[in-house]
Amino acid sequence: MPFITRFAPSPTGPLHLGHAYSAMLAHDRAMENGGDFLLRIEDIDRSRAKPEWEKQIYEDLKWLGIWWPQPVLRQYEHLDQYKAVLKSLWGGDLIYPCTCTRRDIQNALSAPQEGSEMPIGPDGPVYPGTCRQFSGVIAPDPMPDSVMRLNMRAAIAEIVNAPYSEPITFVESGGGQKETIEVSPEEAIEHIGDIVLARKDMGTSYHLSVIFDDMTQGVTEVVRGADLFEATKIHVILQRLLQIPTPTYHHHKLIRDVTGKRLAKRDDARAISKYRADGASPADIREMVGL
Ligand code: GLU
Ligand code: ZN
Repeated sequence: MPFITRFAPSPTGPLHLGHAYSAMLAHDRAMENGGDFLLRIEDIDRSRAKPEWEKQIYEDLKWLGIWWPQPVLRQYEHLDQYKAVLKSLWGGDLIYPCTCTRRDIQNALSAPQEGSEMPIGPDGPVYPGTCRQFSGVIAPDPMPDSVMRLNMRAAIAEIVNAPYSEPITFVESGGGQKETIEVSPEEAIEHIGDIVLARKDMGTSYHLSVIFDDMTQGVTEVVRGADLFEATKIHVILQRLLQIPTPTYHHHKLIRDVTGKRLAKRDDARAISKYRADGASPADIREMVGL
């Protein structure tokens, strides 16, 4: 069984210590297991992705001693494939267009409803379902003003009612021992809800592209920060819906600054390039992140 990990940064800012940790950990795990480490550039967000950041990612990773095979998969070159995946889900009532603004969603969620609280899902407040009535009614053709949402109820029903259906689970290897995490139908419907599968500006979404690419690249273990643990549940649901394999997931600790705050891309002071310019060595970086 091959062992393939990947590092999938978005070229929207400098890599910081947290990215270095994620990349080195994925690379280490591939080497320890006699496997392969792949690099993927997640550049579908055209308003934020910049070629200079991509160039810097390559430089920083090389400096850290990480090697990856060519060619690198760049998501923007595969938009037609994501579109085809989206289309394969069309028909029936799995996907629907939604024109709600952020404000519409907030208003619908704050309307008084008996016994209801406002659950927060992996992507923010759980969508209240205003446009769900359009499931299976309106065609998926590119509609400039709408996003495409997954009808989570319909998705779960399809998964649960499939012949020989098993519970929705994934194997977590981040805690040392392997652990099976289950996503219950109730959690999917109430706490994840109708997530956006295609944004209007890109015709796809992080969730859709990431699971498709992990599949096409044959990734067997996804190494990523614990901040994506909830998003992984979306990915596992989508894999089941599309009948593609679910890799193992290795969620790792987040690297925090001295105040305990998680590092963000805008924390340029923590950029790898800055440490490098200040004379740090890759071994120093390893030590700083606890590798
Ligand atoms: N492009 C995402 C990021 O930079 C990828 C995370 C992942 O799927 O592991 O956070
Ligand atoms: Zn809507």
